[in-house]
Amino acid sequence: MSLKEKINTLAEKVNEKAVANRRDFHKHPEVAWTEFRTTAKIIEQLQGLGFEVFYGDDVIAENAMMGVPAEAVLAKHMARAIEQGANPDLVKKMAGGKTGVMGVLKFKNPGKTVALRFDIDALNIGESEDVSHFPTSNHFVSINKGVMHACGHDAHTATGLAVAEILADLKDELSGAVKLIFQPGEEGVKGAKAMVARGIVDDVQYLLGFHFGFKANQTGMFACNITDFLATSKIDATFTGKPAHAGAFPEEGRHAILAAASATLNLHAISRHGSGASRINVGVFNGGTARNIIPDNATIQIETRGATTAINNYMVENTMRILKTSSDMYETPVAIKEVGGASAGENSHELTEFLGELAKDSGLFNNILDHVNFGASEDFSCFMERVQENGGQAAYMMVGTNLAAQHHDHKFDIDEKALMNATKIITTAAVKLLSK
Ligand SMILES: [Zn+2]
Repeated sequence: MSLKEKINTLAEKVNEKAVANRRDFHKHPEVAWTEFRTTAKIIEQLQGLGFEVFYGDDVIAENAMMGVPAEAVLAKHMARAIEQGANPDLVKKMAGGKTGVMGVLKFKNPGKTVALRFDIDALNIGESEDVSHFPTSNHFVSINKGVMHACGHDAHTATGLAVAEILADLKDELSGAVKLIFQPGEEGVKGAKAMVARGIVDDVQYLLGFHFGFKANQTGMFACNITDFLATSKIDATFTGKPAHAGAFPEEGRHAILAAASATLNLHAISRHGSGASRINVGVFNGGTARNIIPDNATIQIETRGATTAINNYMVENTMRILKTSSDMYETPVAIKEVGGASAGENSHELTEFLGELAKDSGLFNNILDHVNFGASEDFSCFMERVQENGGQAAYMMVGTNLAAQHHDHKFDIDEKALMNATKIITTAAVKLLSK
């Protein structure tokens, strides 16, 4: 039996478990840095397959974690994870929100080091409980109110574990080493930087990542020529003013809302950059306590984007200048926090060609897209940038699935048939790259 046939047979064998895993993760969704149950389940399965498993401080650099929830929020989610069946000893080792895990399998003969990255987090969206929604009618709708796998990362995680099982089965026939990276906090681009900063892809020659759906929005579609990942920064700014009676002593107050409002208008007035696309948005604005009090607090949530990392840096520098100037103008100190970020990037050319050929030969896809302009942000780009800087190659793929609704919609759902396509193409690519 050829290796391709073997992989296909094994993929069919693990498919039932992959679907069960997907439904289990779907039912128990967890958002960025609270993926305690999800991580614990992945750890146990990888250990069971004979992987060397790294998690907690071994895969997360604490000083590069962005947008981590408050200690009390983390504690609540750790308790929930344990209640929902996570091993308490494993959860304890993820204290501080250090979720995410890497499984490593080293093969006997020397070869390449190949990393595969899967994101594992969910979104703060309530899931539809309408019976027309497949997860509801099939009893795996989210039991964590207000949280939902509305982007398919449950299926990414399940695919990663299916690939893990096949690679473990083929252990004696492979060379080199494979690293399966299960990344927390992709939504809001919070998690990748902390894993990259820990150095876990520094020795990687080939890196692959993927997403179900997006522009590959039918089962049988595939895309690997993907360009234009936008660099992005997510920034929170909190202005602290001084409260005062708005009728009797307004001159004693320092008006935090005016400072934030002035900043908001001027942030949107940053000049566009001549070298490529740039974006800015103030998407959330909160402040004040009562009608008759000069407001002593205001917070804005900002995001910037750029066609290149340099253009995004230009947007961020101007953002900082405007925040500080607004703060000076109204005498309201400002606290600025970067809560997320991703690099710009595009797929390595040679690896893209290789994947395109592989997809054609696989017979799995009936519609291979020529080119996809991503035009959004995905912190896979942080891993990609590091691997490419070190002379390695990296590529991101889109594996087609029918979509019940758009990504991030409360009725989002994938076609579970797509799981097997992803498992087959990713495993085959990894196996070939190991001995390239
Ligand atoms: Zn996603």
